[in-house]
Amino acid sequence: MPRRKKNEEGKADSEKNTSKEEIRKKKSSSSKKAEKYIDPDKVLDEYLNEIVNALGISYLNLSVDDLKEVLREPFASAVGEVKTKPKVSTIINRLKAMGDRLMEIISYKLLRLYDVEKLSEDQLEFIVTYGKGGLIPIMDKLYKECLKRNRKDLIDLLRVTWSMFASILRSPIKCPKCEFDSVMPDLSCRVCGYMLSMKELKNTIHVIDILQDFLKMDRDGFYEILKSGFFYYTSEGPIPPSRFKPTQGQIYFEVILNKEEKSKLESISHSILPGS
Ligand SMILES: [Zn+2]
Repeated sequence: MPRRKKNEEGKADSEKNTSKEEIRKKKSSSSKKAEKYIDPDKVLDEYLNEIVNALGISYLNLSVDDLKEVLREPFASAVGEVKTKPKVSTIINRLKAMGDRLMEIISYKLLRLYDVEKLSEDQLEFIVTYGKGGLIPIMDKLYKECLKRNRKDLIDLLRVTWSMFASILRSPIKCPKCEFDSVMPDLSCRVCGYMLSMKELKNTIHVIDILQDFLKMDRDGFYEILKSGFFYYTSEGPIPPSRFKPTQGQIYFEVILNKEEKSKLESISHSILPGS
């Protein structure tokens, strides 16, 4: 009996061994398969010059290492997971099909590689032209740099980018100095750092005119503003204090009327609504 048992154990052992071997075989064959995939970094080394010329970015004067860095990710996705190396023309077509999105990625990479102050004129221009939403968090730096280099044309482009992509940072108040829609509720400008006075804020929104228009639409609201001596200003215009409910992240301004403005508004209300 014990002998037989031994035999059975032996059999089981050998079975175990075979299955282990099979697993090993399977593993080695699958790792061999993985090795067959093309390594995009190696292909990029080989195709780099042709890609750079085809994309027309040689004027950016980047070193080979920096070029590889800015192109690595879009290049890898253009190559894909393949076992045969695609032709350079195929990759170029795929990269070109990405259009401005590719230039946008290159812009972000450039901003990661260099400080804004150290960018060449061509590089700065490229980033401002293609950077889009990624420029919003560093708009103050870019504005300062373009101002220093006297590139008003680039500042105009930055202003367009700001109004398109600043989203919750886009203010209903335009800064009188840099002319970006970037005045924050504390009256500081997010882009150029200028601090507005309450008087400047009122000049910017034409306080008397907007309240006069408001009176024509909403008589009760107007009198509430006149009585309380202040109102809230948002992208929707003036709002009487009792009706104001700020939403999260909304930019709004508390505008306090002075004596002179109040009496001006009072006489306007008498002329528009006689007998009131
Ligand atoms: Zn400003």
